[in-house]
Amino acid sequence: MNKVDYDIIIVGAGASGMTAAIYGVRSGKSILLIEEKMYGGQIINTPQVENYPGIENISGTSFATNLYNQAKGLGAEYMNGKVTKIKDCGNTKKVTVNNNSYTAKSVIIATGAKNRTLNVLGEKELTGKGVSYCATCDGMFFRNRDVAVVGGGNTALEDALFLSDYCNKVYIIHRRDTFRGEKQLEESLRAKDNVVFLLNRVVEEIQGEEALESIMVKEKDGDKSEKISINGLFIAVGQVPDNDVFSNVVKLDEYGYIAAGEDCKTNCEGVYAAGDCRTKSVRQLTTATSDGAVAALGACSYINTKS
Ligand code: NAP
Repeated sequence: MNKVDYDIIIVGAGASGMTAAIYGVRSGKSILLIEEKMYGGQIINTPQVENYPGIENISGTSFATNLYNQAKGLGAEYMNGKVTKIKDCGNTKKVTVNNNSYTAKSVIIATGAKNRTLNVLGEKELTGKGVSYCATCDGMFFRNRDVAVVGGGNTALEDALFLSDYCNKVYIIHRRDTFRGEKQLEESLRAKDNVVFLLNRVVEEIQGEEALESIMVKEKDGDKSEKISINGLFIAVGQVPDNDVFSNVVKLDEYGYIAAGEDCKTNCEGVYAAGDCRTKSVRQLTTATSDGAVAALGACSYINTKS
């Protein structure tokens, strides 16, 4: 193989990317881990992780920090920046970040997914002015105030539980009458006396001049709308992929996820996709870390067979 800057470049320092870094360095490879925001990915938005095997309870931030320290401690290099291009030059892959290019024998894309928006009137304008996509980051601003959470998955249920501990009232707004999230979380939420369930409802407008003042909530299958005064709105309606920048090098599926199976191999030899950014049916912390290990070991074996 040609001389390169690193054995493996990992794009994205969420649970998957950081696990890949740990497995990569432990296999004797030089690793560059690149992250656009803060390390940790989605898990830093989870107040308490209670379903990771072997760990009864840990905050998402602590979990991410442990992974980061472990990867760095073992010798992975970490860089902050946005990857704008990956170029396949055969046995060498060229990764462009912050207007510089770095070469590697293999690349692992582990960029996760970004928050889905509701796409309703006022959402864009009031984001950061009462509208948020992260209850653990912004929840504290709404102590003793009235807030609402939109969504029916684990994130929405966890967010509502977290907020119910210190907000005055928490509305949970979901477009169906059953939740996608875990039953246990729903039961904990139903036991709270400051949580109001608005089911079969959708948010049709977010209102406010300088800051969020109210939302219009409509029956899903009816015409009745009501105005609800709130100070904070937490949107937790899932994620969407953010892989367009890689579409020159790897094939995307019809939803925009990177087409890769359980072996994390993409159509481009030497390029792997791990975690929520790839086509998969279960997107959990456990499956993200599992992918990180699979992708790293796949990349190591690819490098070993080529050298
Ligand atoms: P999710 O499970 O995909 O749930 C998204 C929710 O938003 C669904 O209830 C969906 O409704 C609703 N929704 C989607 N688009 C909407 C729209 N335009 N308007 C209104 N509602 C909309 O997303 P998530 O809760 O972020 O979780 C993502 C993954 O991470 C899941 O696999 C989840 O289990 C996992 N997760 C795990 C943990 C943990 O293990 N501790 C914590 C958080 C998340 P429908 O149900 O009607 O489709």
